[in-house]
Amino acid sequence: MTKVVVTGGAGFIGSHVVDRLLEVEFEIVVLDNFSTGRPENLEHQKGNELLSLHQVDIADYDKIEPLFSGADWVIHLAALADIVPSIQHPFPYHHSNVDGTICVLEAARKHDIKRFIYAGSSSCYGIPDKYPTSETAEIRPQYPYALAKNIAEQYVMHWGQVYELPVISLRMFNVYGTRSRTSGTYGAVFGVFLAQKLAGKPYTVVGDGNQTRDFTYVTDVADAFIKSAQSDLTQEIINIGSGGTYSINRLVELLGGDVIHVPKRPGEPDCTFADMHKARELLQWQPKVSFEEGVELILENIEYWKEAPVWDKSSIDVATKDWFKYLGE
Ligand code: UDP
Repeated sequence: MTKVVVTGGAGFIGSHVVDRLLEVEFEIVVLDNFSTGRPENLEHQKGNELLSLHQVDIADYDKIEPLFSGADWVIHLAALADIVPSIQHPFPYHHSNVDGTICVLEAARKHDIKRFIYAGSSSCYGIPDKYPTSETAEIRPQYPYALAKNIAEQYVMHWGQVYELPVISLRMFNVYGTRSRTSGTYGAVFGVFLAQKLAGKPYTVVGDGNQTRDFTYVTDVADAFIKSAQSDLTQEIINIGSGGTYSINRLVELLGGDVIHVPKRPGEPDCTFADMHKARELLQWQPKVSFEEGVELILENIEYWKEAPVWDKSSIDVATKDWFKYLGE
């Protein structure tokens, strides 16, 4: 039986990857320190003998290394996310996302892992010159989270080059879906808007709302991880997007409700849009869930966000103060 280590497996994307792997009856070892992941995300799998869940920090090599014994694949998703806290506290971001990745790579190398899939981030493109943006676009991280995810990706590729670890990095674009994080920090737009919808408050639209994002549904992303692990590819960096790009105003239209505007933030692209040629050609993968279907699926599960903080203009002003301070002109 195929044994898979999933770091960050109790997180938003990780828990969907775990669900998909359990559908095909693989043995799964989840490593998660629950810093942003939540055991509730895997609650529905409780009692499944194919799943073991270990509360452990990936940067603790001695603790994680034995858990890789006998594993075939590693899917490495554990990381700290979010822009503002990465600007305020760059060190933990480096520690978890870079040092943590080296620990996972070393454990994978020690146990002769057959496939290593890294959760890369499209934030490495910053504000790109070209849309759709291909994997060869210049690397322009705008804040420490993007930098750390990119440095870790370089380590992953380097372990492929030097140690012949069979590595792939999937650079994900604006992943959304059920179980997207609900921790306290001001973060991804879906969590912000859904909590506002539940509270009957206006959506805090950044700028004029015409900016677009390549919103990619989480179960499609989970499939991309599994297809990558099943492929023979190695040393490849592949964009994972939805095939389209959708405005914030369109999102508001689908969710329904009033809006209030907050200032455009420095360093933010007006568009994210993945060039998907590599994904289609190398992985034979393409997304199945349209933006409209994805938003509907989320709305069916909106209760998940009932404990999420409800942001308004003034709390956003406070939360993004350092963003403007450090990234502004
Ligand atoms: N956004 C918004 N209101 C918010 C938070 C975000 O209109 O309260 C917009 C933001 O300007 C961006 C999009 O939603 O265009 C996605 O933002 P998110 O932070 O989720 O992702 P990123 O900007 O990192 O792609």
